[in-house]
Amino acid sequence: MSTATDHVKNSAAVAVAAIIAIGANLALTGPAAAHPTITKAGVGFTSTPPTPWPKATSPLTNLADFPKLTETQLATAISKERAERAATPAQTDPLVELTTQETLADGRTRVSIYSLAPGADPEKVADSLRAQGKKNVQLVRHTPASPIESGPQPMASTDCAYGQARTLSCPNAWWTNLGRTNPVVLFNDHSGAQWPVTDAVYKWNRTPNIDSWYTWNNCNQSNVHCVDVTSGSYGQGGWIGYTETTWNWGTSGAMFDAYVYLNDSYPPSTFTRNNVVTHELGHVLGLNHNQWNGDVMWWKANMREDIGGENPELLRQVYSVDR
Ligand SMILES: [Zn+2]
Repeated sequence: MSTATDHVKNSAAVAVAAIIAIGANLALTGPAAAHPTITKAGVGFTSTPPTPWPKATSPLTNLADFPKLTETQLATAISKERAERAATPAQTDPLVELTTQETLADGRTRVSIYSLAPGADPEKVADSLRAQGKKNVQLVRHTPASPIESGPQPMASTDCAYGQARTLSCPNAWWTNLGRTNPVVLFNDHSGAQWPVTDAVYKWNRTPNIDSWYTWNNCNQSNVHCVDVTSGSYGQGGWIGYTETTWNWGTSGAMFDAYVYLNDSYPPSTFTRNNVVTHELGHVLGLNHNQWNGDVMWWKANMREDIGGENPELLRQVYSVDR
């Protein structure tokens, strides 16, 4: 079956980067700052996290403390999400995709997708990126899509959506698997303590078929994909974070590289940094922007921090397909 929407079908120009922005600049700590211990679990956890929970000293943290979601838990989350969506006012804001794209000397394609800040003008952010010399800046607005309430059915490798959740590329192209059944993505965190990367990794890793790990400032593992997560004061150019991915569309079509950038220059007000990190890591795992404005993968940063039901179900199904 196919649940893809038309605009998704045509998105050979994948997209990966999320930007978000807001108010005044704060003297927030950068990547080199000290990292205090994180002691609280984030939204979405049902088990008790390790205590203490150090960000800086937790290489290859044991994810067994955060078990995979069961089929029942996933189905419950999907029902809950759809009920909440049905109870919210009709969505009128268009879904915005702001991307840059560049063909590298080796023929690979680099794509960044930006998630804008609340209040940011997409046109101005696009102009700012062009002024910075970013290649092939594209701003696309999609009218709100009618809900696609597909049920729990087997997914083909070319399916690109589940309900309001969408994949980054369509047909799907995912991480090269380096000889494994599923690719292993290791999030190599260099970001400041204000960015709860640990929390976001654990949340997404509860999705069946996702093999991701957290490590602090170190990635010399073999047979894994290292994804660097960096924060800094990048200025108020209209984005809070973005994810840059590189693809080999000429041959395998697969993603083989990703970087996440988190912007300290916007203080959280109508969004949370947990939301931003969770959103960007969702891109890394292959999710595009969700079509519902209440979702963590909405194109603008918001207060949502849980991964919802349709997002993990889409990932579970996609990564269960052998390729
Ligand atoms: Zn995004």
